[in-house]
Amino acid sequence: MIKNILILGAGSAGLIAALSLRRFFPQMPIRVVRSKDIGVIGVGEGTTFTFPQFLFNDLKLSPEEVYAHAQPTWKLGIRFLWGPRAEFFYTFSKQFNFRRLDLPKPNGFYCDEGVENLDVVSAMMRQHRALPRGKNGLPDFAQHQFLAFHIENERLVEFLEGCARTRGIEFTDGTVREVERGAEGVAALLLESGERLGADLFVDCSGFRSELLGRTLAEPFRSFDRSLFCDRAVIGGWPRTDEIIEPYTTAETMEAGWCWRIEHERWINRGYVYASHFLSDDAALAEFRRKNPKVAGEPRVVKFRTGRYERLWVNNVVAIGNASGFVEPLEATALGVIVNQSRWLGQCLRENSLAPTPGMRAIYNRVAGDSWEETRDFIALHYAFNTRIETPFWRTCQAETDLGKARGIVEFYQENGPTSVAEPLLLRHPSAFGMEGYLAMLVGMRVPHQKPHQAAVTEREIWRNHTQLCKTVAKSAFTVREGLDYIRQPGARWS
Ligand SMILES: Cc1cc2nc3c(=O)[nH]c(=O)nc-3n(C[C@H](O)[C@H](O)[C@H](O)COP(=O)(O)OP(=O)(O)OC[C@H]3O[C@@H](n4cnc5c(N)ncnc54)[C@H](O)[C@@H]3O)c2cc1C
Repeated sequence: MIKNILILGAGSAGLIAALSLRRFFPQMPIRVVRSKDIGVIGVGEGTTFTFPQFLFNDLKLSPEEVYAHAQPTWKLGIRFLWGPRAEFFYTFSKQFNFRRLDLPKPNGFYCDEGVENLDVVSAMMRQHRALPRGKNGLPDFAQHQFLAFHIENERLVEFLEGCARTRGIEFTDGTVREVERGAEGVAALLLESGERLGADLFVDCSGFRSELLGRTLAEPFRSFDRSLFCDRAVIGGWPRTDEIIEPYTTAETMEAGWCWRIEHERWINRGYVYASHFLSDDAALAEFRRKNPKVAGEPRVVKFRTGRYERLWVNNVVAIGNASGFVEPLEATALGVIVNQSRWLGQCLRENSLAPTPGMRAIYNRVAGDSWEETRDFIALHYAFNTRIETPFWRTCQAETDLGKARGIVEFYQENGPTSVAEPLLLRHPSAFGMEGYLAMLVGMRVPHQKPHQAAVTEREIWRNHTQLCKTVAKSAFTVREGLDYIRQPGARWS
């Protein structure tokens, strides 16, 4: 029976896990131990829609609180400079996996020529706008389920820590020097100060160090290097001056990888994710600087290893976040994975009345492991079909990327076109991306298929009117700047 929980690490993973577990177990003693000397990774600034939902729906935080303290900007999706099209937009809404009642085919079949203005969300992205104008003329936040955030990492961690403290979570500053093993797995953490901290359940959120699951319990690591070849990132940015705050992350093809652009209110963050096998750090830095002449100061290089541990819950240790696995941030999925892992853990513990059984641990390991693998396969798809530039890196991606279970989805698409009828058969459940995500990438990258649709004249007319209407609605929407100015006015309304 678990009577207390100790979380190692106070990066985003440790704090989200603590907050989530507190929600499930309001009376449980929960302590977070973290080393200020080691610090946090300091990256992880783009989210999916899962993260705002965690703040608003799970933690029941008010929008006023979140926007005042975490100071996010709105992210409607990702603008891909990827594949043969000039650009395409990945959203959290249903652009492709949607059929109008007056059309015989889903939207994806009408996208041979262009993928613009498929719905209001992608049309707003194209118009550099973020919030639809409601009937009362004010920004409409009802679409919050399609919104994700850009949040500066330091601010995010500070905000989450504040939330954790107000919910009675205890913090200990100290570096773990040694781990005491016990019959259940781990018995206690021994800090450099000499303090000994025991617990019934240990949540390992120690980042890439994976102090408990990886180092102490020596759980085998399953590499994803047959699917994903990048292993480093150069990170830098510059203070915003007159650049518009875009309502999306940009993902731009680079010579041996890709570069993100994340839009904070006062800072623009860029990061070049690359494969060191194809590009030296110096060459990556040079390309990064050439394409981003405004970069201020010295960019830093972060190394990472892509993959996951065989089991994520072993005996009384559960790893969450980078301590459990890592997939590069091309879809900014990590915070969403952390939220989901934390929720599943809470559910499993609650179902077992805090006395977890081997069967429950096995279920958790399957679901959490699958979610890492789905992310791997989905990101692999981005690499395998990006034909934008010809370099040794991209030729290798096209020839050698292992698509894992996404292979079946691609083959079905190549045979049947952008239909979603087989979603229940093709996708893992729960799927973080849904058929919509796969179709957005496959249609966006113009992956050929054998079922082009010859639309009749009337269909083309309906389609033209549809996209035109989306564009018109989008043009009246608010920019991020206007939205931020609005919510800071006294009496701003959220519904
Ligand atoms: C290049 C790059 C870009 C990324 N971009 C995104 C993104 O856009 N969106 C996204 O969702 N995710 C992104 N991520 C993933 C991001 O890192 C994670 O989402 C998130 O920050 C989780 O980190 P963490 O809490 O697991 O680890 P960390 O932030 O590293 O925290 C580890 C904690 O453990 C503590 N600790 C470790 N060892 C000890 C010890 N011995 N004793 C005491 N304390 C210890 C540390 O002090 C720290 O508090 C990115 C990752 C990389 C590498």
